[in-house]
Amino acid sequence: MVERPHVPVTGGCLCGAIRYESTEAPELVGFCHCRMCQKATGGLFLIFADFEADAFKFTRGEPRYYRSSEIATRGFCPDCGTPVTFQYDGDAGPAVGVGTLDHPEDWPPTWEHSGIESKVPWYEISDDLPQTTTEESGFLKDARDRKASAAPTSSRANERSE
Ligand SMILES: [Zn+2]
Ligand SMILES: [Zn+2]
Repeated sequence: MVERPHVPVTGGCLCGAIRYESTEAPELVGFCHCRMCQKATGGLFLIFADFEADAFKFTRGEPRYYRSSEIATRGFCPDCGTPVTFQYDGDAGPAVGVGTLDHPEDWPPTWEHSGIESKVPWYEISDDLPQTTTEESGFLKDARDRKASAAPTSSRANERSE
């Protein structure tokens, strides 16, 4: 974190149709090199800033969302296509791409490089953050645990209604 980060934290898509604001600093900022983040951003990795749901709101427009996997949803600007949000199912707050922040310079990543199994070999990591595979990522484990704990409840509910 820089000495005087801009809080509220604001940002938006390239064309400006979508704007967001968080009254709190991001909970964490990290890299993801996984194949889905490469495809979804068109870059080599996503750098994301994860926000608390209570602090975060859209102040103009809303992303269009699509399911990028069984356990996550991504939001983009329907006008300009900028990838804006990433969110695991059951995770209360969204993560945004750090490049969409008005002041990305305020929030250097401090978490880890996840999805390291898909990092392209000709890009060299020059920081000392931990490097984890998608399978090792705490986020993914949390998301799967939530899904696993939610699934039996809904199937029981189905049985009762049948
Ligand atoms: Zn836009
Ligand atoms: Zn990823």
